Amino acid sequence: MAMKMPKVMDCSVADCAYNTNKACHAMAITIGEDPDEPVCDTFFESSTHGGVKEVTAGVGACKSYECSYNEDYECTASNIHVGMKEDQPDCLTFERR
Ligand code: SF4
Repeated sequence: MAMKMPKVMDCSVADCAYNTNKACHAMAITIGEDPDEPVCDTFFESSTHGGVKEVTAGVGACKSYECSYNEDYECTASNIHVGMKEDQPDCLTFERR
């Protein structure tokens, strides 16, 4: 089955190295440390910003298999939103099964 990689529609984590004007410019991000902890694993702080300016990040992988959008450790949502939740950068589209 052909799958389309979901896009990161917006990300409010301004101090991430890949973030410019609430957009994520990594080629793709990975979500999830624990099954029900949808933290952005790609986040890191840096004084310089990187990524590819023309690119809006996709969700390359997601380990939060307690999410109803997760199938075989991949995200099936059409797009996701990322932002701070309880002091960590999280996938805000996460929906517990
Ligand atoms: S919506 Fe669910 S499956 Fe998709 S990235 Fe977020 S936590 Fe993972």
